[in-house]
Amino acid sequence: MGDLQQQMSKTLLVELKELEKEGIVIKYRGSRRRFKVILLTLAGDNLGLNQLGALCTCFSGNNPCRMCNVTARNLKGKYELPVQGLKTAEVYDQIISRGDAEEMVDWGIRAPCAFNELQYLVF
Ligand SMILES: [Zn+2]
Repeated sequence: MGDLQQQMSKTLLVELKELEKEGIVIKYRGSRRRFKVILLTLAGDNLGLNQLGALCTCFSGNNPCRMCNVTARNLKGKYELPVQGLKTAEVYDQIISRGDAEEMVDWGIRAPCAFNELQYLVF
């Protein structure tokens, strides 16, 4: 796991997991109510999101896209996601569980993503 992923696991993810599990208590209409909190999505530029997701941060070669395994050369002129080669949560989990470094590189995955420790967010 990369340095950023390890740092997030030890800090941000600890708090986000606590919010998922315990939520926050808010006084609502005179009574205290507990609301579970989930991280719905991440927003950012390509480089920032790929860094957060422990994905390849080179956008001129293989795997410039977070959603599929298109190459930069084949990406030009494309406006739709391909049916095959999608980086779904299922595909991602299979690749991570196999732990094959070459396969991870082929899919632009540098390390397991810390956000996948969360129960509801799939990066
Ligand atoms: Zn794509």
